[in-house]
Amino acid sequence: MREINVQDVTEVVKQMCIDANYHLSNDMKMAISNAEQEEESPLGRQIFSQLKENLQIAEEDMIPICQDTGMAVFFFKVGQDVHFTGGSLADAINEGVRQGYTEGYLRKSVVKDPLIRTNTGDNTPAVVHYDIVPGDKVEITCAPKGFGSENMSRVFMLKPADGEEGVKNAILQAVKDAGPNACPPMVVGVGIGGTFEKCAEMAKEALTRETGTHSPIQYVKDMEEELLEKINATGIGPAGLGGRITALAVNINTYPTHIAGLPVAVNICCHVNRHVKRIL
Ligand code: SF4
Repeated sequence: MREINVQDVTEVVKQMCIDANYHLSNDMKMAISNAEQEEESPLGRQIFSQLKENLQIAEEDMIPICQDTGMAVFFFKVGQDVHFTGGSLADAINEGVRQGYTEGYLRKSVVKDPLIRTNTGDNTPAVVHYDIVPGDKVEITCAPKGFGSENMSRVFMLKPADGEEGVKNAILQAVKDAGPNACPPMVVGVGIGGTFEKCAEMAKEALTRETGTHSPIQYVKDMEEELLEKINATGIGPAGLGGRITALAVNINTYPTHIAGLPVAVNICCHVNRHVKRIL
């Protein structure tokens, strides 16, 4: 059994919140640079150039890439041979978020109650997804999520008879409905299968995949490529002002499901698709 003091979790979470908000990961930077080359619209190319300049300013001046520094979402893959010591893991994660958002001067965007809407003042609580896996390591993914694009996300409870075409149409519909509101160019995370909540969680985790990589399942990879082409043919374009590049990637995760159902979730992220990984 390996012991990990939760204070180490707090420290890592704090750093991850700051890093994710100041530096976009290399895979996303590469996707934006490649898209700039492919964009045919002069206005679209100008927007890509502004996005790149914005990323550079954020890194050099140590300021957030976007004013919406997101709700702090984490995926914790906890090795079953790990024993956390020194207090509650959930409290340690929230303490890291509190310190990161305060010391990093990141906007506090979380309200304590969805209807009463008093700001918690420190961006807590985080949304944390736990998974128990073999081994004695803890893999932490931090993905602060902006809500311009989160608000445009959807869950479709399709029927099995809707099949692959129904799934593709649902994904395309969600993207078209999102239009400029999701701050394109976007990354489209999709979960197909499982249950109502499982497909939504898969769609969220799909956004944290390294941009430019594909599902190891051949038909899913084909769907990712086909949908990216179709989404880019909508003409929504960078910032929704028209152009060839509406999405930088479509990432699909799948899971077994019930004989009577075909759940599909589409979690849309803007070009500020923040994701940072660390292993403890
Ligand atoms: S959706 Fe993304 S780019 Fe738009 S305001 Fe939110 S974080 Fe910023």
